Amino acid sequence: MSEFEKIRYTRQKDFDINDKNLIDFEFDGKKRKVYSNCNLSIFVDDYCNADCKFCVAQLRYENISKAYLKPKIEDDLEYYKRLDEVLTKIEPLNVSVSITGGEPTLSKRFIKILELIDKHNMRKRTITTNGSALLNYVDGKRIIDHLIDRKFDHLNISKTHYDEEINKKIMRYKKGYCSNSNLEKIIPYALSKGLRPRLSCLLLKDGIKSVDDISKYIEFYEKMGVDNIIFRELMDYDENTMCNLEKMDYNVRNKVRLNDIWKDIDKDSRFKPYKNLLGYYYYVEMYYYNSVVVCSESADLKQQTKEKNKHDDIVYEMVFHPNGNLNGSWVDNEDILMKYEVKK
Ligand code: SF4
Repeated sequence: MSEFEKIRYTRQKDFDINDKNLIDFEFDGKKRKVYSNCNLSIFVDDYCNADCKFCVAQLRYENISKAYLKPKIEDDLEYYKRLDEVLTKIEPLNVSVSITGGEPTLSKRFIKILELIDKHNMRKRTITTNGSALLNYVDGKRIIDHLIDRKFDHLNISKTHYDEEINKKIMRYKKGYCSNSNLEKIIPYALSKGLRPRLSCLLLKDGIKSVDDISKYIEFYEKMGVDNIIFRELMDYDENTMCNLEKMDYNVRNKVRLNDIWKDIDKDSRFKPYKNLLGYYYYVEMYYYNSVVVCSESADLKQQTKEKNKHDDIVYEMVFHPNGNLNGSWVDNEDILMKYEVKK
């Protein structure tokens, strides 16, 4: 068995955060060690114009029985002031940044958030979006041009299937849509401006479920110029603590196991192994398929909790929540690094 395959099966047993570079840093007077490749996620808002049957954002949050609608700083100016304060504090850590949600491009705060990220010269700027508003105009400019002007590096677009009817059935848009003809405009334009698009596809029995489907997906979007696609396995989570029954039931019925897909990929010479990557709760295998870099990722939320509990002084990643807290967690009142105090 190659090293590549060995890690595939042993996974998290091989992960040791102490092998990584850690930086001493103080948050609100408390000493912590920050993983040097730490990412800051700005969770803009939970609103989304789609209602994906599997929604990972909701699943992640409801995973510990919290209501999905998060509390937030109501006043826009106060929110910007708080974000500015947090970015000023963590600037010396030189973290990468990603904007996420819900659908972040639909927030009225979106343009100002981009401005603040640019002001603080954040490294490696990424947005995760369903793509439906990228060609919409805000303040006289298309969203995609705002991203380009604010020097974003990566544009992650979620699309579960190249077949529009199947995609619509799974993503259940209530308003707006990111069609393949929109992507025909978005992809080459983004590439020509140095904003690298990446398509993100969740593997589902209702959707892309086999190596053959994966090949068709890659070849469909390769024609548009896409050179980077990620296929994700539905996350493992603690079933006893879930509260969203509809999504839970859907996810149980629809899970496609990457271990099975990888076994088939091993036998398929069109996929050339490139590298693998072990994170603190995720594992990624990367391949070349023609000119496309194909990533495949599995993640386990139970492992995330376990790893964090094992090293509670370490900050693996940071999340800025709508309530103004900076946390080492995706839950807005857990592992608070900088607590937002409401001004009286
Ligand atoms: S597009 Fe993303 S945030 Fe919106 S419903 Fe789908 S998975 Fe959730």
